[in-house]
This record gives sequence, structure tokens and C-alpha cells, in this order.
Amino acid sequence: APPAPPVLDVRGVTVRFAGLTALDEVSFTVAPGSVHALIGPNGAGKSTCFNVLSGLCRPSAGTVALGDTELTRLAPHRIAALGVARTFQNIVTTHGTVADNLMLGRHALSRAGFAAGALRLPRAVREQREHLARAREIAELTGLGAHFDSPVALLPYGDRKRVELARALCLEPRVLLLDEPVAGMNSAERARTAEVVGELRSELGLSVLLVEHDMGLVMRLADDVTVLDFGRPMAHGTPDEVRQDPEVLRAYLGT
Ligand code: ADP
Ligand code: MG
Repeated sequence: APPAPPVLDVRGVTVRFAGLTALDEVSFTVAPGSVHALIGPNGAGKSTCFNVLSGLCRPSAGTVALGDTELTRLAPHRIAALGVARTFQNIVTTHGTVADNLMLGRHALSRAGFAAGALRLPRAVREQREHLARAREIAELTGLGAHFDSPVALLPYGDRKRVELARALCLEPRVLLLDEPVAGMNSAERARTAEVVGELRSELGLSVLLVEHDMGLVMRLADDVTVLDFGRPMAHGTPDEVRQDPEVLRAYLGT
């Protein structure tokens, strides 16, 4: 059988800031139900790439498509509504309970339902109850079930950071973009989070684009790896292929 068409198709994306080319004709695809890792040294353009994919940064050239839908010039909320959810490298919530944070994610999914909820229309009340039930399921899927009603400020760092992943999942995304999801976590928290991401792929068939510095985790989770270096795609392949690429070894290990 021919390979399934990609869920996300990034072609020739270029981003220029004053005097700096942050992304230089970057192309890659994310296959459905796969984990694609985007790696590279600090400043390589990984977060900028996420900003393009989520509509926060307009590329100077290139296109992004989700299935058959071109995303390139759409506003962030439209892109999210079409099924691209993301987490941010440096944002970890400190407000509210786990449930509150996940309901914010559901809110982004259906503004209208929530506006009506304020008026306590019967249909809206039912929808609100369904959103709460789904938020609870997502908390279970992400290892946060036991903390559903806890204030996030009281949770260990690893759980608090994983609330961001859970909130992104509340959008019911077709593609989940994770920007350094284990940064700052201890090794037990990293292992737990890796297990969660692995389960999201194997059990829900979720497609994931992963930016992560933890190479052990990348090698364990990723089906495909794209390496960026100063905004340029430097290598692409399976984790084993990329790990043996002489150029990658030179860039990473200075050999
Ligand atoms: P990474 O996530 O791989 O560490 P970034 O995408 O954050 O890299 O940054 C890539 C390059 O673009 C860096 O040199 C960074 O300083 C620069 N950069 C990122 N955002 C902006 C911006 N808004 N304005 C100017 N330069 C930026
Ligand atoms: Mg970054």
C-alpha cells in the first residue's frame, strides 16, 4: 500500500528577523500516528518553527498544510480550531486547579457553548458536563487523574508541566506540538512523561511533533528525526540514521 499522506506538511518555510535567517527553507512532514522529533542546538530555530506552525509567526516564504488544509496565513485561533495544538517551552501554569486549566483548553474548543453556559441554557449545561467528563479522561491519560481537583501550585514540577500537555490535548488535536516537554524535570518525571507521550501515540494514534534536548527520550520516542542547524535542515531520518550521520556528530560533538 502507498504510504498514508502526511498529517502535517511543511514546505520551504523561511523566517527572517532583522539581519537573521531563523529558518531557511525548512521542509518536513509528520506521518499520521507518528512522533517526529525536531532537534538541534539552541538558536537552531525550533521554537520559531512551532510559532510558524501555530500561526504566531508569519513565514517570509513557504507553506504549511494540515491534511488538505493550508494553514500558512490563518490566525492562531483558527489553526488551533483546525486541530494543531501546542505547548510552550517556558510556560508552566501556576493558577487554578488541574480541572480549571483543562476546562480552559475545552473552552478554546467551543467558545459558543461556554458563552451559553453562562446563561445556564439546558443544552449548554449538558455540554459543560460533557467537557468536564472529557477533561477528567484527559487528566487520566496524562497521569494527572489523582490531582484533578488539586491547585496546580501544589503539584510537583513535573506534574505541573504536564498540565500544559494535557491542556493542549483538550483541543482534541490532529497534531500535538510539544516544545521541550520534559525540560526541568527530574529523571522519574521525564520517564513518566515519555511513557504518556508513547501511550498517546500507540493508544490514540496521535501525531506528535516533538522538540526536545533529551536525546535519550528523542531516540526512544521518535519515528523520524529532523535536525536543524542555524535554521537549516541538516539531516533527516530514523533516530538510528541520524545518530550515525557524520555531520550531526560534528555539530553535536564537535568531532
Ligand atoms: P530554538 O528554539 O531552536 O532554540 P529559536 O527558534 O528560539 O531557537 O530562535 C532561533 C533564532 O531566532 C535565534 O537566533 C533567536 O535569537 C532568533 N529569534 C527568535 N525569535 C525572534 C524574534 N521574535 N525576533 C528576532 N529574533 C528572534
Ligand atoms: Mg526553543
